[in-house]
Amino acid sequence: MFDKILIANRGEIALRILRACQEMGIKTVTVHSQADAEAKYVALSDESVCIGPAPSNLSYLNIQAIISAAEVTDSQAIHPGYGFLSENADFAERVEKSGFTFIGPNSETIRLMGDKVSAKEAMKKAGVPCVPGSDGALTSESSEILAAAQKIGYPIIIKASGGGGGRGMRVVHTEAALLNSVAMTKNEAQATFGNPVVYMEKFLENPRHIEFQILADKHKNVVHLWDRDCSLQRRHQKIIEEAPAPGVPERQKNKLASRCADACKKIGYVGAGTFEFLYENNEFYFIEMNTRLQVEHPVTESITGVDLVQEQIKAAFGEKLSFRQKDLNINGHSIECRINAEDPYNFTPSPGTISRFHFPGGPGIRVDTHAYSGYKVPSHYDSMIGKIIAYGSNRDQAIARMKIALSEIVIEGIKTNIPLHIDLMNDLAYKNGGVSIHYLENKLGIKS
Ligand code: ADP
Repeated sequence: MFDKILIANRGEIALRILRACQEMGIKTVTVHSQADAEAKYVALSDESVCIGPAPSNLSYLNIQAIISAAEVTDSQAIHPGYGFLSENADFAERVEKSGFTFIGPNSETIRLMGDKVSAKEAMKKAGVPCVPGSDGALTSESSEILAAAQKIGYPIIIKASGGGGGRGMRVVHTEAALLNSVAMTKNEAQATFGNPVVYMEKFLENPRHIEFQILADKHKNVVHLWDRDCSLQRRHQKIIEEAPAPGVPERQKNKLASRCADACKKIGYVGAGTFEFLYENNEFYFIEMNTRLQVEHPVTESITGVDLVQEQIKAAFGEKLSFRQKDLNINGHSIECRINAEDPYNFTPSPGTISRFHFPGGPGIRVDTHAYSGYKVPSHYDSMIGKIIAYGSNRDQAIARMKIALSEIVIEGIKTNIPLHIDLMNDLAYKNGGVSIHYLENKLGIKS
């Protein structure tokens, strides 16, 4: 096994990866910006390296600084976590070329799946159902664009092939607005992602977001770990996730999960990966693949008993998966609430010092957070400061336990979205299960 791993991330996920390494007896190196020098995981790691000032582009996105940190500490592998450089194919390539192991798929796979047009093409070939849309990228021929939209039927959505993070998309309701919208999305895509390629899809009006977890080793063994429902979102950002997705026939989910595993075999995928789908009128439609660990991975860990971070590390080292599909089972139900330092209803970030922090506990409760009493939430990064994961033998018990945990947790000194989570755990539609991706914004009266 690896001797020493460098964790190229921050916050709760840095701590999560650190704990996995410690359990496996692997030494850890954390890298941090000047703003995170006091972080808990930095203090808990065997070694740490400051890689730059607070802004991410000067620290957590600074490829050279991270590679240098791996060199000076004699690390053997780099875990990218999620966000930052985790899906950056150039970074993965630099890691490989510098002689380190990238804990994730190889850079070619990241490149293939990071380009949405090529990802969709690969998935179609592998028999994964996709949203009806243009055959690949849109050309600059107006007549072809108009014809493609007419064939699909309005409303349609124009999406940037290089897009991510919910940006680079535009919904079009009428033919009159089409050509102008395509031109604007292309310009934005060029400016934001350095890639003007756009494509077109049918806009699904009221779908759910359901995704499938995959795990693959370097010996062509692939398993799936079923599904998660992440429909409770605001501004395309998930805030509550659960596994399994309620109300979807098991046979349908198992069939699609196996398809995803087969697709991974076809593209030579290694490590943990997630296939994201929209689910509407009892049909699944692939939208993208994430080639990294997801924020919401703990809900899958709770119901399968598999430690996804440890499996990622083992797969990257070249170990064979220690189980086959038939050895895996789902047990119970798990829900995750993301705790953000923000106003619960208008989502304005609320950085600052946490004056008092009391953790919830009890049966079925897991808290993943790097925060503590006296911790200063920096203003430079994502507002998520932790996650509560509630497990129950069924969905009702998971909700009941989550409600208790939310009533016990105390965070003072900053605003958090805990009041919103309490509202949602008592929301009748949520309790019934199966709300769409627009439910939360509609409930709060927000236009996305
Ligand atoms: P990103 O990489 O930016 O996250 P995705 O392709 O995953 O982009 O889409 C993000 C979100 O945009 C989805 O979760 C969904 O809310 C919305 N979306 C994307 N494609 C469609 C579509 N064809 N119809 C309706 N909504 C869509």
